[in-house]
Amino acid sequence: MSFYFVRTPRVLHWLFPKITWRIKDSESIYLTFDDGPNPEVTIQLLDLLKKYNVLATFFLLGKNAVKYPELIERILEEDHSIGFHCNEHINSRTLSHTALLKNFRLPKNFPPTVLFRPPYGKLKWWQYNFLKEKFPLFGWSIMPGDFDKKISFQQQLDRLKKSKAGDIVVLHELPNTIELLRTYFEQTEIKSFAKL
Ligand SMILES: [Zn+2]
Repeated sequence: MSFYFVRTPRVLHWLFPKITWRIKDSESIYLTFDDGPNPEVTIQLLDLLKKYNVLATFFLLGKNAVKYPELIERILEEDHSIGFHCNEHINSRTLSHTALLKNFRLPKNFPPTVLFRPPYGKLKWWQYNFLKEKFPLFGWSIMPGDFDKKISFQQQLDRLKKSKAGDIVVLHELPNTIELLRTYFEQTEIKSFAKL
């Protein structure tokens, strides 16, 4: 990704009002993890969330979901939420109508879900109008940049620590995210986290 906002600008909230960018009047922070499940990361992540008694939301890719049904089972058993993040991780703005419909079709073993987040948070206007009738759409208000190799661990941690009540935080199922989250839980006073 070439450029992104650590805190999503208000103008997007106004342009795409049917996308939930943050949870108004909430006391909690909403941690979300994109692009899984992943056989190395999901288990460590679930262990860590369990240790700190935190519920979170997993926006899964269909192509990964079909490969690891046992991970989906564990996510649900531990009472987290599951959302859909498309079958393939493709920028929807580059897709034709037909390709888009295919990418948005839930795979067979996917748990019934109503939550949806497009890859890269990118949608064309017609796609937004189409999708908002089908799913509640979720964006995020804080992006610490756990995928960003150009910034340091400390910078990612500082960004994560900017999360406040009502924020939806987007993280990814990446190996380095585990240590980031562990350090955040160790160093933060915040105790209220919730799933979407
Ligand atoms: Zn993604």
